[in-house]
Amino acid sequence: MEYEAVIGLETHVQLKTRSKMWCGCANEFGAPPNTHVCPVCLGLPGVLPVPNEEALRLTALTGLLLNCTIPPRAKFDRKNYFYPDMPKNYQLTQYDQPSTSGGYVDFEFQGGLSRVRITRAHLEEDVGKNFHFDRNSGVDFNRAGVPLMEIVSEPDITGADMAYAYLNALKDILVYGGVSDCDMEKGMVRCDVNVSVRPKDAKELGAKIEIKNMNSFSGVRKALEYEIPRQIAVLQSGGKLIQSTRRWDDVTGITEEMRTKEDAHDYRYFPEPDLMPFEPTEPWLEAVSSRVVELPLARKQRFMADYHLPAGDAQTFVWDRPLGDFYESLAPATKNPKALANWIINNLRAKLTESNSNLDQLKFAPTALVELVELVDSGKISSKIAQDVFGEMFISGGSPASIVERRGLAQVSDTGAIESFCDQAIAANPGPAADFRAGKVAALNFLKGQVMKLSKGKANPALAGEILEHKLRSGVSP
Ligand code: ADP
Ligand code: MG
Ligand code: ZN
Repeated sequence: MEYEAVIGLETHVQLKTRSKMWCGCANEFGAPPNTHVCPVCLGLPGVLPVPNEEALRLTALTGLLLNCTIPPRAKFDRKNYFYPDMPKNYQLTQYDQPSTSGGYVDFEFQGGLSRVRITRAHLEEDVGKNFHFDRNSGVDFNRAGVPLMEIVSEPDITGADMAYAYLNALKDILVYGGVSDCDMEKGMVRCDVNVSVRPKDAKELGAKIEIKNMNSFSGVRKALEYEIPRQIAVLQSGGKLIQSTRRWDDVTGITEEMRTKEDAHDYRYFPEPDLMPFEPTEPWLEAVSSRVVELPLARKQRFMADYHLPAGDAQTFVWDRPLGDFYESLAPATKNPKALANWIINNLRAKLTESNSNLDQLKFAPTALVELVELVDSGKISSKIAQDVFGEMFISGGSPASIVERRGLAQVSDTGAIESFCDQAIAANPGPAADFRAGKVAALNFLKGQVMKLSKGKANPALAGEILEHKLRSGVSP
């Protein structure tokens, strides 16, 4: 029997706010342990939470970016559990009235577009971090109370690669929207992976197995590449799968069972009595709407359509947004947008990296790149010379035309001058000249190379080829 995988992801994302969710402590990674704490995020008795409005705005903004609706009312609930990383013994989250729900993400996958529906995105709070030493353990509460958004997908994902593509698309959207920096190294994105398998055309879903707390997208992919065949093998050998939670071990590359039962009622969810339900007003929603940005996929498609760029170039301009914006500020001014993209992606980017500088520090006027493309396209300079001109432009500024003028780099298209270079090349290389006459066509390239050398790269190469060929065929030799 053939089986298929069914996957739904719960993705936790730390929001990009200055302060924590319920107090004024800094939301900042990497500080010494327990330096961003106060009675509120330490869960001391008698304190009251004050909601971080920016976190509410960023969650609503995420809803808009993910095509969700924003209901008229959201509320917070206590999810009760006991663990040292959560001193209050409950986590504030949104249980049955989340900030936003019912959307979808479209993303590129296997040469086409795929869609994963979004169940909901709700707001909660991060917890502290446990550290285990030789003889004791410690908790760092700097992370406790950091605004955390959970994005729950419908079980629309069908394999490890699709999960990976979805997560990357989601991350790109959140980074674009300014919702989160999604820095994986800093643990800003974590993911619970729910996966089941079922016979290919079965209607019902199989037993859900949850792999908890994955902190890298490649880890998610690897875990699924292991877990899906494992589940299929269990069923094929006549075994049964039961709803359970597993742990991925990155070192051994396997998942192992942690526990088998866990239901919502175990958490005894109830509404947070210290917080009013949140009811967004029209102006509040309008302010959030004004922060909606063009999605990365739409930007890519637009770059391809408007400037006739290949997918790879367009993707580069999506991932490197400032570079894309820079390109876009110039593209309407050029007749050759593809060549302009090449200059920016290949040459300019390399120079910026090499000199450890950025686009704000350019010595030349950006429009100089448009000029440079034009000089090449009109045959005024060769593309090889253009590299030198660009190099000088980058170091000392100045317009390409003036550099060409000052250094006498203009391409020589004057037939007389090229003829004399051709004569010299033929005279100095009787062997290759004879080879060509004897039918060895490739010898022409060698001679052409010599002409370019003699002209210091300035001869118009097409013209040089023509003249050489004519001279060799007509037997006119000096
Ligand atoms: P819980 O209440 O245990 O968190 P949910 O029904 O809310 O479970 O689903 C959590 C996640 O698991 C969602 O992303 C959902 O799409 C996914 N999911 C639910 N059932 C299955 C299943 N049988 N197989 C795979 N994924 C599932
Ligand atoms: Mg869950
Ligand atoms: Zn605090």
